[in-house]
Formats: sequence, C-alpha cells, structure tokens
Amino acid sequence: MTARGWIWTSVFLGVLGLALLAAIRLEGSPPTVLLPGESVLLSSKPAPLKLSLLDAGAGLRHVQAEIAQGDRHWLLVERGFLGGWLRGGAPGTGSGELELLIEPAALGLEDGAAVLQIVARDWSWRNGFSGNEIRSTLRLRIDTRAPVLQIENGLTYVRRGGAAAVTYQVDEPTASDGVRVGETFFAGHPLEAAAAGGQQRRIAIFAIPVDAEENPSIRVEAADAFGNRTERVFPAVVQERSFAQSTITLSDGFLETVVARLAEAENIETSNLVIAFQSINENLRAQNEERIRELIGSPSDASLWSGAFLQQPGSQVMSRFADQRSYVYEGSEISTATHFGFDLASTAAAPVAASNGGRVLFAGTLGIYGGCVVIDHGWGITSLYGHLSQVDVSAGDEVKRGQTLGLSGATGLAGGDHLHFAILVGTTYVDPREWWDPKWVREHIEARLAAPPP
Ligand SMILES: [Zn+2]
Repeated sequence: MTARGWIWTSVFLGVLGLALLAAIRLEGSPPTVLLPGESVLLSSKPAPLKLSLLDAGAGLRHVQAEIAQGDRHWLLVERGFLGGWLRGGAPGTGSGELELLIEPAALGLEDGAAVLQIVARDWSWRNGFSGNEIRSTLRLRIDTRAPVLQIENGLTYVRRGGAAAVTYQVDEPTASDGVRVGETFFAGHPLEAAAAGGQQRRIAIFAIPVDAEENPSIRVEAADAFGNRTERVFPAVVQERSFAQSTITLSDGFLETVVARLAEAENIETSNLVIAFQSINENLRAQNEERIRELIGSPSDASLWSGAFLQQPGSQVMSRFADQRSYVYEGSEISTATHFGFDLASTAAAPVAASNGGRVLFAGTLGIYGGCVVIDHGWGITSLYGHLSQVDVSAGDEVKRGQTLGLSGATGLAGGDHLHFAILVGTTYVDPREWWDPKWVREHIEARLAAPPP
C-alpha cells in the first residue's frame, strides 16, 4: 500500500472508531429508580427507606434525593458515581442503592403529605454530555402522633394457665392493638363501632401461658398504620399454681395398635414402635400444634359466644389441663409432653356438643387429635374437640351452644373412647375450668364489657 493509502485507511479506521464510540456513548436509556411503591407512610421513628438504582448502559453518574412539602425543600442526599467522559461509568456503576432515613421531627417536616423526588443521571453523552436523566417521585404521608391509649380496668388477678380481659380506648384507628404477655401477643377486638375520628372501646382477652416466665411483663399496646406505637403497663398480678405430674406406662398392645395405626396413617416408619411413638408424640404433635396456630390466624372480631362454656354433658374428668406427662416403656421414660386439654369420658360414641356459639374453623382428621373439630368463638377464643369417631359439621358452619358436632371416639393418639377438649386464647392453651364456670365468666369477662361511668 502507498503512504497515501495508509493515511486514508488510518483516517477511515479512526472515524469508524469514533463513530462506534459515539454510538455506544450516546445511548439513550436513562437510569431506572426502583421505589418501594407509590407512596410510603412515615411515623415518628421510620425505618430507613431503601431505593435501588439501575443503569445497564453508560453507568450511573449522579443521584440526588430531595423532599418537598408545600414550598419548603430539603436536600437529603447527593451522590456522584465514579466514571469518565470517555469510558463512561466505572465498573460497579451499573447499579446502586440509596438508603434514606427520613426523620420528620429532625427535618422539621409537618404531619401530612410530602413528596420525595429522586433525580438520577448516567454517563451517556446525550443532552450535551450531561447524560440521560430520570425524575422519580414518591408520595410521602407523614403521621408522627402515636395513638392515645386509655386502660379502663384496675388491678387484675390472673392465674398461670388462666385468662383475663382488659378493655381500653384508643383515639384513632389502629393497625394493631392488644396485650403482650412476655413475647406472646393477644390481639384486641372492637367493643363498639368506631366514632368519627376513630375513637373506639376495645377488648383484649389474654392469658398467662403455662410456661411463661415468672412475673411476665403485661402491657397493653396500640400502633397506628404509620407505625406510631403506645404501650402501657397493665396492672396485673399473676397467681402462681403448679400442674400435676403424671406417668403413662405404654403397653405393647398400645404400641402395636394405636401407635402402629397412627404411624402408618402419617407415613412414620414403624419398624421400631418406640421410636414411632417418640416421633408421633414430639414431631407430629408439634406439626399439629403449628396447624392449629395457622387455623386460628384471624379470629372473628365479633363475639359469637355468650355466657359460660358448656362442659361435655355427663362426662367424667380423666385428665386435667397442663398435666406434665411422662411416657414410660419397660421402666424408662421415652418421651414427655404437656397435656393442654381436659380428657372427658362418658359412654362410647357419645354425642359431642359445641361448648358455645361459634364458627367451625376445621372439621376433619388432625394427627394426634384424630377426628377433630376446631371452633372460632370470636375475640380470639377457640375450642378444640379431639379423638372423635364421627364428625358431623364442616369448616365454615355456624354452630350454636350445645349443638352436636359429632361422636366421641378413640381416633388419633388415644387409648380409649374419650373427648379431648381444649380452649385457646389467641394461640395459648388455657384452663377450660375458668370458661366452664359461669361465675368466673361473669366476673372476669362480662363485668368488663359495660362502659365505665364517664
Ligand atoms: Zn387429651
């Protein structure tokens, strides 16, 4: 090639190179800002707001976030990303995260609406080398005021394994309210329709779990939709009590019939029936309790019950609430469990009655409980009937106090025909004797329902 040829080829390649570079560096897609929704609620103590930025083309160059409320503006953050005019964004500028902590009081924001505006630019040559720009806005709703909580009751005595009611007023709609005993939460329910503005009387029935720590903290709490929270200590005295220990000796007959049958139904290995029993008593029991907690998930806000709960008519108590059971085989303890119900026996295949009005949450077979019915009575109270030989109701049915649910039996983990009856408050098993006692229900629950004198 001649010298001229070389020059022209070089010029041609140079121009081609520049054209290619320009084509790449002139890309026209702006960054993307991923917002956590269309609008965000901010309380007095909000969690940091996380935004993601993406720019697959030239790379992120600059981002700024600003809040506007009325005609006031606050620059929250301004950040540049490494890069160059020629090469574009440095490696890693294809994406970025922005964490914004917007504390209304610290900034001087007022309760009400505000707007968060994010402006992001990339390293493209577009717009006179200033890059592609995106403007994203996020509506902010600010409420820094916590609900005012007024407890209506004075000093309250509650037994370990027992229940109590607290009534209180909130002055605005709540997203969550109720009683917390240690770590266990008992949701509140409306006692009356909310007044304009959201003022409302509410009730929470709570329990002291059998295994709660000594003198657990008992607090009433209320939180609004924005996350503003109020809590107050509830003046309660926990009356300690002990629970019976009992020893159950497992016979070969029990293992070979009840345990073998239940293990087969639940796909549990049966080559060693002692191990099968351990698996049923520990793993299957835990799974069944988990299922019951799921069923109870969202109880009725209305009370579907009234007065004392019905004890199975004509029944004899075989085993009491919260017996600490030790299971013994050939002289040694092979498993333990707390028995969270009452075992009630009458005649075989006796009709089993609904203990109070409610709605059937579950009717079918449930592991150790065999044929089982679970009833939601509202206000977080649930009753459970186990070992039924026949179930005559279906999930969703409304039942009345005394209505027949089915027939007693020995299904599930049961040695003989009896009814296993349990009451739960929230997801905590409680002693049914309180709920069977009209005087207790009157004095501890019903007496609190009437509005206090103004
Ligand atoms: Zn039982």
